[in-house]
Amino acid sequence: MAPPKHDSRMRVLQGDITRLEVDAIVNAANSSLLGGGGVDGAIHRAAGPELLAECRGLGGCPTGEARITRGYRLPARHVIHTVGPVWQGGTQGEPDLLAACYRNSLALAVAHGLRSIAFPAISCGIYGYPIDRATAIAVRETNAFLSGDTTLKTVSFVAFGAEILGAYRMELDL
Ligand code: ADP
Repeated sequence: MAPPKHDSRMRVLQGDITRLEVDAIVNAANSSLLGGGGVDGAIHRAAGPELLAECRGLGGCPTGEARITRGYRLPARHVIHTVGPVWQGGTQGEPDLLAACYRNSLALAVAHGLRSIAFPAISCGIYGYPIDRATAIAVRETNAFLSGDTTLKTVSFVAFGAEILGAYRMELDL
């Protein structure tokens, strides 16, 4: 039998990321880290005002990088805030920046001794990244990262809707 193509620690879930009891959920933030719409708004609403207060002290985050905070009223212990690229047609470094979001978020989780992390589809909402390209990058980068890591136990990709769920299932052969 051929070896599995993807690391079996990767999972796909459908639903609201703010409900997950994991060591960290990832926030698709904007570079101010001061809140926004989409998943960012949902995370801040569920975490409570203490999250915004901690974010104010971080002084923002450049695109492709990641920052960690506590999870406050969320069931998740931490929030890893990363800033995805705005899709501008694909010629402005968007694929590398999106890949960096996944790598830097995973590295931050490992640096903090975390075992479980859940990602939303970074850049696939307001930032307009084509879904099939974004999910391919998410799976490729995570798989590459996990090939050099033994501490993470599960990496979940959370799809809010059916289109993203289908794209992840296709990528992961599920
Ligand atoms: P970006 O600005 O990076 O595009 P968005 O928050 O607009 O970020 O969207 C990123 C993805 O998160 C989209 O696929 C959106 O459907 C999804 N999303 C929005 N709310 C939630 C939620 N509560 N849980 C999981 N995913 C969510």
